Amino acid sequence: MKVFKFGGASVKDAKAIKNLLEIVSHFKGEDLVMVISAMGKTTNALEKIIALRWEGKDVSLDSLNELFDYHDAIVKELFHEGQNFYAEFDRLKSRILRAVQLPVTENYDFEYDRIIHFGEILSTTIVSNFLNDNAIENNWLDARKIIRTNNNYREAKVDWETSASLVKEHILSGKYVIQGFIGHTSEGYITTLGREGSDFTAGILAYCLDAESVSIWKDVPGMLNADPKYFDEVEKLEKISYREALELSYYGASVIHPKTIKPLRNKNIPLYVRSFLNINEEGTVIQESSANDTKIPSFIFKVDQVLISISTRDFSFVVEENLEEIFGMFNRHKVKINMMQNSALNFSVCSDNDPRRMPALIDELKSKFSILYNEGMELVTIRHYNSETIERVTLNKRILVRQLSRRTARMVMADLN
Ligand code: ASP
Ligand code: MG
Repeated sequence: MKVFKFGGASVKDAKAIKNLLEIVSHFKGEDLVMVISAMGKTTNALEKIIALRWEGKDVSLDSLNELFDYHDAIVKELFHEGQNFYAEFDRLKSRILRAVQLPVTENYDFEYDRIIHFGEILSTTIVSNFLNDNAIENNWLDARKIIRTNNNYREAKVDWETSASLVKEHILSGKYVIQGFIGHTSEGYITTLGREGSDFTAGILAYCLDAESVSIWKDVPGMLNADPKYFDEVEKLEKISYREALELSYYGASVIHPKTIKPLRNKNIPLYVRSFLNINEEGTVIQESSANDTKIPSFIFKVDQVLISISTRDFSFVVEENLEEIFGMFNRHKVKINMMQNSALNFSVCSDNDPRRMPALIDELKSKFSILYNEGMELVTIRHYNSETIERVTLNKRILVRQLSRRTARMVMADLN
């Protein structure tokens, strides 16, 4: 069994879905599980509807217009007029309308999952039917009955044992289409695995099925050594280890969801990152051997960072006791620490400047400590650095913090002006 994952960009319009058909047609005789995300920006659109509900506003069919029109236009290009699928699709839309009009409970995260997951239900319903109409016979599977999690809504933890037995019960041989990102609790409530979680679903399924490989189909030729947004010349990493891929995604390379790698590593299942635009291109393979890891330096940029420098008011040391308090504050405000450094009198932290979380955190820090902070910082990480690569990224920059370990250089910096 092979597992393929198609993200939002690979199903964003009718043309993309026809391209998906073309890709899958190359694997006619093979057993295949296709994990599919919501189409294009659907998840973001659903987040807006969730916000409306949460604010107590009426959600009517009008609120869903944009979302439904977008999907309707795709359906119209993929299915002939009068086909049975239209009736099925109308029933699905009615179910979604009823769901968004249900009374809102007190638990935001529960409410979020109950609505957000419809993006994946819409996309898989369309893709599965379209493939069946075009000689790729497949079964549509309901992740709401197969991926078992705890009830930590929006960031649910997988119950591996139960999921494995459900997966093996539902997936035998042949082809299957299933939603990424979605799970369910033992009571049958809907959960999700965190934004961008469809990659992880592919990892979970591959693990449970002892799959031969996982392929993530993307709009890039593979894992690149830098984001083309920041660099004119980027190189493809042809073969890297699970460990290296984990490190890169930990530092912020956004090609694969970091949670995807562990289950694959544990069963030694190779992970391919491949271009859905060019099936003949090899892509990147992530596997056990680290022989090639150091060949090409990788660059990871995080922009819009804030560097917070925390010191005690009475000139005493920053020690374990205050650190415990400081970490507690970051944790309560759900602000992730991207990098940290301490000295006798100072503890410095670099974090994303999240406008919904940062001001409240700063206020709480200020109630106990002296705080200095710099906004508009960049955090750059170089894996397998040397002096030349450091020079290259720090040109015309003022460096505020620098950390070098054997393989990794990290710098918090700002433009020189
Ligand atoms: N549709 C979900 C999201 O946009 C999951 C995914 O695409 O992986 O976060
Ligand atoms: Mg995605």
